[in-house]
Amino acid sequence: MTMASDDQKPARAGFCMSGITDFADGISAIDTHHIRPASDASYLLIREGRAAFVDTGTALAVPHLLAALQEKQLTVESVDWIFLTHIHLDHAGGAGALLKHLPNARVLVHPKGAPHLVDPTKLIQATIGVYGEAFFAATYGKILPIPADRLQVTEEGLSFFWVDRSYQCLHTPGHALHHYVLWDPIARVVFAGDNFGVSYRELDVNGHAFVIPATTPTHFDPSEMHRTIDRIVALQPAAVCLTHYGQVTEINRLAEDLHRGVDAYVAIAGRHGAGPDRVRRMGDELFEWMSAQLDAHGDRADAKTRHAALDLDIDLNVQGLIYWADRVAASKLSGT
Ligand SMILES: [Zn+2]
Repeated sequence: MTMASDDQKPARAGFCMSGITDFADGISAIDTHHIRPASDASYLLIREGRAAFVDTGTALAVPHLLAALQEKQLTVESVDWIFLTHIHLDHAGGAGALLKHLPNARVLVHPKGAPHLVDPTKLIQATIGVYGEAFFAATYGKILPIPADRLQVTEEGLSFFWVDRSYQCLHTPGHALHHYVLWDPIARVVFAGDNFGVSYRELDVNGHAFVIPATTPTHFDPSEMHRTIDRIVALQPAAVCLTHYGQVTEINRLAEDLHRGVDAYVAIAGRHGAGPDRVRRMGDELFEWMSAQLDAHGDRADAKTRHAALDLDIDLNVQGLIYWADRVAASKLSGT
C-alpha cells in the first residue's frame, strides 16, 4: 500500500446553525439534510468572488444550497461550476434543479455518468431498486434532466484552471465506475465523493475520525477500491472532503482503516455471499465488525446508538457486496 508521512493533526471546524461548516482555502461544507443532519454534504468553493459546488445532494437540497450562496453574499450568477464526483442521486440528484437557478454554471461529470444526467430515467429506476419507492419519493425530490450543452465530461487526469489555480480530475473506480475525484494541489485537498469511505462526525472520538468503506450498489470492486484509496494517499493531501460527511485529516491512518475494512467486507461476503438469508446474516456480521472497530476506536456508544448511525450504510453495503459476489460468481460460471 502507498504510504506517506503522516504528520497531520486532527483539525475540525465547528458546525454553525445554518449547516455550513467553513474550512481553509474558501471551502465550505453545506449540510444537504438528506436523511438526517450531517449525513450528506455538498461543498461550496469560493475563489475571488466566484463560486463552484462539488456535489449537490438530492433535489430537496436545492433551497439549502441557494441559502448558502446568499449567506456567503454570492449571486447565482457567480457560480461557474457544479462538479459531480459521481452520479449516485444522493450527490447528483439536485444538479438539474440547481442548474435552473444558475445561469452561468456548467456541470463536470465522468463520461460514464453524462448520458444518465441527460436522461435520468434509468438512474431513477436503479435508485428506486436500491431504496424502494416510498423512501425514494420521500427523500429524493424531483430529478430533472440536465441539458447536454451544459455538461462537460472529464477525461482521466484532466487539469483545468479556475479563477486562480489549477485543479485535476482523476478517474477513480471502486465505489462507482462513473466516479472521479477533484484534487486541489494548492490547498492540498481531495474532494473524494464516496471514494474515501463514510465518516460521521457523531462517531468521532477526541477529534479522531472513524471511517468505513462505502460499497453501495452496483459497481463495488474491491481491487479498484484499494487502488483508488492508494491513489488518493499518493497525492499526500492535507485533508479529504467526504460527501458523508465533512473534511477529514489523518489521511494515512484512515487509508489503512479503509484497506482493512474493504478486506473485512470481502471476507464477510465470502462467508455469506451465496447462502440463504444472506442479507440478514451479512448485515449482522457487518454490524458486529463495525462495533468491534468502534470499541477499538474508543467509542462508548451503546448498540442502539450505533445502529441509528450505521444501519442505512450497512443495508447499502450489504446490497453492494451481494451485487459484487454475484458478479464474481457469474464470471466464474461463464469462465470469463
Ligand atoms: Zn455513492
